[in-house]
Amino acid sequence: MTALATALTPSHLRLLEALFPGDGLVTRPEEMAVFGADSSRRSALPWAVVRPRSEEQIVELLRWAEAEKMPLVPRLRGTGMSGGAVPAFGGVVVSTLWLNRVIDIDASDFCAEVEPGVVTAEFQALTQKQKLFYPPDPASLKISTLGGNVSTCAGGMRAVKYGVTRDYVLGVRAVLPGGKICDAGGRTHKNVVGLDLTRLFVGSCGTLGIFTKLTLKLLPLPESSATVLAAFGSLRGALEGAHNVFRAGILPTALEFMDAVACRGIAQIRDVPWPKDTTQAVLLLKIDGSASALPGDLDRLTRALSQANPLCLLKGLGPGEEEPLWEIRRLVSPAAFQLGPDKLGEDVAVPRGKTVEAVEGFQAIGAENDVHVACYGHLGDGNIHVNIIYDAGDDGQRARAKACKEAVFRLTLSLGGTISGEHGTGITKGPYVSWQLSETERSLMAGIKQVFDPSGILNPGKGWV
Ligand SMILES: Cc1cc2nc3c(=O)[nH]c(=O)nc-3n(C[C@H](O)[C@H](O)[C@H](O)COP(=O)(O)OP(=O)(O)OC[C@H]3O[C@@H](n4cnc5c(N)ncnc54)[C@H](O)[C@@H]3O)c2cc1C
Repeated sequence: MTALATALTPSHLRLLEALFPGDGLVTRPEEMAVFGADSSRRSALPWAVVRPRSEEQIVELLRWAEAEKMPLVPRLRGTGMSGGAVPAFGGVVVSTLWLNRVIDIDASDFCAEVEPGVVTAEFQALTQKQKLFYPPDPASLKISTLGGNVSTCAGGMRAVKYGVTRDYVLGVRAVLPGGKICDAGGRTHKNVVGLDLTRLFVGSCGTLGIFTKLTLKLLPLPESSATVLAAFGSLRGALEGAHNVFRAGILPTALEFMDAVACRGIAQIRDVPWPKDTTQAVLLLKIDGSASALPGDLDRLTRALSQANPLCLLKGLGPGEEEPLWEIRRLVSPAAFQLGPDKLGEDVAVPRGKTVEAVEGFQAIGAENDVHVACYGHLGDGNIHVNIIYDAGDDGQRARAKACKEAVFRLTLSLGGTISGEHGTGITKGPYVSWQLSETERSLMAGIKQVFDPSGILNPGKGWV
């Protein structure tokens, strides 16, 4: 691969000043620092930050960057959990947050065209006004963007019924190194002409092109929803409850679980509705559908769960009653810090039938390494958030937490799983990609990267090769 530039020269800076006048260029370290970090808690100072207002500026930038072999790191809200937007290997950060127009929401085509900087929850609110529905719901939806979600193929709680971001991207317009524009896909819900470049862009983490427009698929908005929270005396009891739900022919919109450590953490920061001494696992389920069918579906759901003898079962019909139950789920991640000041947040996924084996194995790994391990997440699709909680100021704990993370990855892979279900590999999991992907797969991916980005200027050091 071509040697990349290792710093900005004065002539580079003059060009960037001309291309990004005024506050379009940021070079003061104290202003750039915030553009060099993300939610992985990793950070590095960019060489400069550019903030394009138009696609034309991005085309010019990529022409120049290819000629100068200048590394570029695309960035939006910086909520990524794996360091994908961190310029860890140097380069100019390209913030596309100012490309934030909702171009069109179309109830007859059931699709929308948006720029990458639109905040996901704001877009969902706009679609709902037209009784349309954009299902992907990462827990970060109020603070992350559609461009970031597409670039990471974000998942969410509704994935069990509706799938992930990838399932809602019909088209991607991206600027490639050298300045060419690729308009992959379009407004049709089906399209089998040529290879599926749209899907290749989804989850590519800023390594293939810089998105300037996304075409997203919409559904009719479900009329109504309901939620059930059920606590169980054992993890296996909770899993049996979940199996009963599927066996009853119910496909929940969301099926989340929290293990005993996660439940204990939450109980330390708020009143909880479950018996504190005996609860070993909690399930949270959501269903949606027509207003007339929902009370009957809710009855069937509670009957299915009751067969697994829950310790308690709470129901909420409609957003007003459901919200307090989901509020508890949102506390899991902050509650983990009750058990220690630092955490490694992994997001492995296993085949759905292996979930109990995986969670019991992760808990045993925590006990062996003498660190707290809290497991929770998307039971309905086998995507388990494993929080390894420790004190980074203690050398011994730091080493044990790393050993724990690696043992979690090994167990996951031995069960036929993946080391990342939704956060991507970025820099935090980059070193472990070869544990999962073979030489053959990695060399195919390297070949694809080479076609899109022959000099390797886009987000170097990230990804999978
Ligand atoms: C509290 C919290 C909860 C979360 N919950 C979830 C969850 O439930 N599910 C989930 O999947 N994730 C979750 N995340 C992770 C994160 O929110 C997602 O990865 C999100 O998609 C990142 O969006 P962003 O706008 O912050 O993008 P950034 O973090 O800024 O960037 C993400 C990636 O996109 C690339 N990129 C940025 N702009 C462009 C562009 N214009 N073109 C091409 N590539 C680009 C970047 O290089 C980077 O690799 C959570 C994070 C937090 C902090």
